[in-house]
Amino acid sequence: MSDFEGLRALVTGGASGIGRATAELLAGRGAQVAVLDLDPSSVDKPLLACRADVTDDTSVREAVAAAVAGLGGLDVLVNNAGIGAQGTVEDNDDAEWRRVFDVNVLGMVRTARAALPHLRASAHAAIVNTCSIAATAGLPQRALYSATKGAVYSLTLAMAADHVREGIRVNCVNPGTVDTPWIGRLLDAADDPGAERASLEARQPTGRLVAAAEVAGAIAYLASPLSGATTGTALAVDGGMQGL
Ligand code: NAD
Repeated sequence: MSDFEGLRALVTGGASGIGRATAELLAGRGAQVAVLDLDPSSVDKPLLACRADVTDDTSVREAVAAAVAGLGGLDVLVNNAGIGAQGTVEDNDDAEWRRVFDVNVLGMVRTARAALPHLRASAHAAIVNTCSIAATAGLPQRALYSATKGAVYSLTLAMAADHVREGIRVNCVNPGTVDTPWIGRLLDAADDPGAERASLEARQPTGRLVAAAEVAGAIAYLASPLSGATTGTALAVDGGMQGL
């Protein structure tokens, strides 16, 4: 039996990018996986698709209940849905700050709140939050986004402390620049997408962007009993960027 066989996992934002790669990796290793997403129409069997908006508490509760019913319980929550934001503190107004915090931070809180009662019944309970190197790196033009990920990092540590005695581990991954549809959209918006991609790649110590599957590998490790003694940690998946 593999370390993933029989695990029942819910992946938010699982219809694209890092979430999709994670859902596919977990399912490929024998886990039963449900995907919660704004638009899960591209999600194929054996994944269980649950449509929900993480900014809407009722929709999150209904989707988590549907996932738990479909999977027969829940062992793993991958809190991954998130959106980007560019600019300094002068570039985004209060409404934009509230909108991005609502998705990136409160979205994870709502999903965890709905999932925790089910995770308590699991013998291998784990929550993995998708954070970012932006939480600690001091990236330019990312004030709002970085603040949301700083909150996700603190939330991970606090939740790890709150739930360790209940047998629920809470960790996060801190990806660098990952080749996902999100980055594709940013590149498409540039004057010269090819030159922008080359410049992004040149900033990576490895000379390339991180693959979504590489972040999925780190998430899968933290989600499985392989990391059974690990809680309250952030695992960098950034091609060495953080060390610079
Ligand atoms: P993506 O845009 O490819 O996928 C995000 C998914 O989240 C989409 O399927 C989208 O529909 C879903 N989503 C967005 N808002 C939602 C909502 N309100 N309710 C439910 N689902 C919603 O993005 P990605 O690059 O795979 O990013 C996933 C996570 O990784 C995010 O939390 C992001 O902050 C983080 N991250 C990404 C990078 C990167 O370079 N791509 C780097 C560090 C961290």
